[in-house]
Amino acid sequence: MSPEPRPPGEWLARLIESGGPMSVANYMTVANAHYYADRDPLGAAGDFTTAPEISQMFGELIGLCLADVWQRAGRPEDTLYVELGPGRGTLAADALRAMARAELEPEVHFVEISPILRGVQAERVPQAHWHDNPAVMPANAPLLVVANEFFDALPARQLLATERGWRERLVRAEEGAFLPTAGPPVPDAAIPAHIRAAPPGTILETSPVSLAVVRQLADRLVQNGGIALIVDYGHARTSAGETLQAVSGHAYADPWAEPGERDLTVHVDFEALGTAAAEAGMRVLGPVGQGAWLTALGIDARAAALARAAPERAAEVEAARDRLVAPEQMGSLFKVMALVAPGWPDPAGFA
Ligand code: SAH
Repeated sequence: MSPEPRPPGEWLARLIESGGPMSVANYMTVANAHYYADRDPLGAAGDFTTAPEISQMFGELIGLCLADVWQRAGRPEDTLYVELGPGRGTLAADALRAMARAELEPEVHFVEISPILRGVQAERVPQAHWHDNPAVMPANAPLLVVANEFFDALPARQLLATERGWRERLVRAEEGAFLPTAGPPVPDAAIPAHIRAAPPGTILETSPVSLAVVRQLADRLVQNGGIALIVDYGHARTSAGETLQAVSGHAYADPWAEPGERDLTVHVDFEALGTAAAEAGMRVLGPVGQGAWLTALGIDARAAALARAAPERAAEVEAARDRLVAPEQMGSLFKVMALVAPGWPDPAGFA
């Protein structure tokens, strides 16, 4: 007999009871570990829909972009395809199909914590190898890395400006409710200069885990070559403001209620990720808007070809293209950044 699953809120309350108020980053870690552990959150029946689930064009253009870089890099034979948080494996399946047409058939490595999503990925990409985190990926080959809506799911700290300086925001528990509260002081030096003097109440989010992942990747890429494409919603410059959000059933929900039952995310700070990668020796391109990038890669021609091949689907293809590209949809909030190893060519779309 399997044990009764316990609501993650109960466990979080127990952790806080035992250790005192916890950082927002730890709250996100515990909540999301539970959230991703026991469901497939993607698609119409789930909580949210991502670009690769909207159209095959997204993964295909990423595959063509990677194949082009690989060809101009001299077609190194041992190159690996690595995807962080591959969801249903849809992006990988579309990208690998496009790459194969360009004679690139790399070994596939997925970094995925969710056992349920690993199962779905195995149906689409049965030859993949799975890893729990980016620290344990193969280290001796050039990597073509893709991360779509991965970094937004990684835990972030919240720092709060008060009358008496910056504080770490902590989460306390009270009668089953979770409440953010001002915690211990944070030294001014930890706050970017252009944000330090922000008025009381201002929140700054930083994601140490995201920086660690980028540094880890950058070290691998500097040593062995390759590129990484990071696609996510977020800001090009480090900026203040709370972006922690919960999404449930395609609607926004309260991030402090029902932890573990809703997807918790923050906007990605592309400037912070880019700086970390540059410090490790990578060339950083972008971020550019997803709409501009897909347009530069030829999404219009691909949409026209798909519509010609299946005229009864022309309207559907056009609607998907709009959703990915239009500035008021995913075209400008979603951004694309490339990290390029020394000696590797620039990927297309960032000119
Ligand atoms: N890239 C996919 C899925 C995005 S959802 C798409 O675009 O459709 C976030 C993905 O990251 C899921 O696959 C989730 O299980 C995975 N994930 C979240 N946190 C993770 C972590 N800490 N380590 C590894 N994978 C994680």
